Amino acid sequence: MKRVLQSLTLLMLAVILQQCSYSQSNTPKKANMDTSKKNNVYSRTDSSKVNISDDEWRKILPADVYEIAREKGTERPWTSKFENSKEVGTYYCAACGNPLFKSDTKFESGCGWPSFYQPISKSSIIYLADNSHGMTRTEVECGRCKAHLGHVFDDGPPPTGLRYCINGVVLDFEKAQAAEKKYNEGEQKKGE
Ligand SMILES: [Zn+2]
Repeated sequence: MKRVLQSLTLLMLAVILQQCSYSQSNTPKKANMDTSKKNNVYSRTDSSKVNISDDEWRKILPADVYEIAREKGTERPWTSKFENSKEVGTYYCAACGNPLFKSDTKFESGCGWPSFYQPISKSSIIYLADNSHGMTRTEVECGRCKAHLGHVFDDGPPPTGLRYCINGVVLDFEKAQAAEKKYNEGEQKKGE
């Protein structure tokens, strides 16, 4: 505490001194030093589109997330901790927090990447034709920030017959709360 007070006093002194000698000059803007994992575009509730430059993304995303989300990289198969996870919860975009998949649409595809048969909503995903590497595939991107997520194939299980093959690095998982689980079960019953 004493140290904090000391540094505060020093800081104030410095500011006062600076203001005295350079009263006309603009105080340099403090650089954004927020190094926490969650950047300031990350939100699990804000659905407004995120449109920032790759330079800005580079500053706020961890290197492995940046490589896949912005440079369309692919993580090595069988490396994602989510591949065999059976935990109940929601998968979000690791770059922006957009809700992407529910754990109950996840299935074991054996392809080496976390696989789902259905996104949470229409705004979860954007679909793009991908003709790279001599293949005709459909790329899937995050519907909010256009992060590259993976690809979708038509060899998935019912009811959609689709397999969303997703890089685990760009997924952020949150375990369902007991209450949410109960709510979802209630909703399912209603729908039956
Ligand atoms: Zn996103």
